[in-house]
Amino acid sequence: MTSISLPAFCLVALIGASGSGKTTFAHAHFRPGEVLSSDAFRLMVSGDENDQDATHDAFEALYFVARQRLKRGLLTVIDATNVQADARRRIVTLAKEFDVLPVALVLDLPEGVLTERHRARSDRTFGPHVIPQQVMQLRRSLGKLQAEGFRQVTVLHTPEEVETATFTRTR
Ligand code: ATP
Repeated sequence: MTSISLPAFCLVALIGASGSGKTTFAHAHFRPGEVLSSDAFRLMVSGDENDQDATHDAFEALYFVARQRLKRGLLTVIDATNVQADARRRIVTLAKEFDVLPVALVLDLPEGVLTERHRARSDRTFGPHVIPQQVMQLRRSLGKLQAEGFRQVTVLHTPEEVETATFTRTR
């Protein structure tokens, strides 16, 4: 069982391919207002959580809210795939701006689990080819997260590890 200790005030980046269970995991362990989900912001700005054309505007809105929370000293979770270095750089930069600890929580599940879940979903409009691409980007990123500036990195590798992970908050 993985026990994850988080400071009461930190900026958490969830990192994982589509279907790794980021949103499910976030809602199980964090309070609703703490989790800023890219899908939810896409839905808010465009009416469609799958509308990739709304991605830029959705992230502008997401980061606006993240700033409002961080300036109040509130723990904030960015629920997006974050498999690309550029996406993570923006998170680390934001953490530095507010002098808050950037934390990476990685859901690195086997590709077979992800493609199986993708097949079973009706709420995703993109094709299954996206999953291996994201898995590859994630695997390439794994060894670089500390160097990118994440001060705490936890990687969960199986659905069981994700299911049984527990959190404590310090201070
Ligand atoms: P996306 O990046 O596409 O938003 P995600 O990583 O946030 O995906 P979720 O939205 O949490 O993942 O879950 C994706 C799908 O996988 C959902 O259909 C969900 O019901 C299913 N799922 C999530 N966690 C589990 C689990 N532990 N066991 C089985 N299915 C799961």
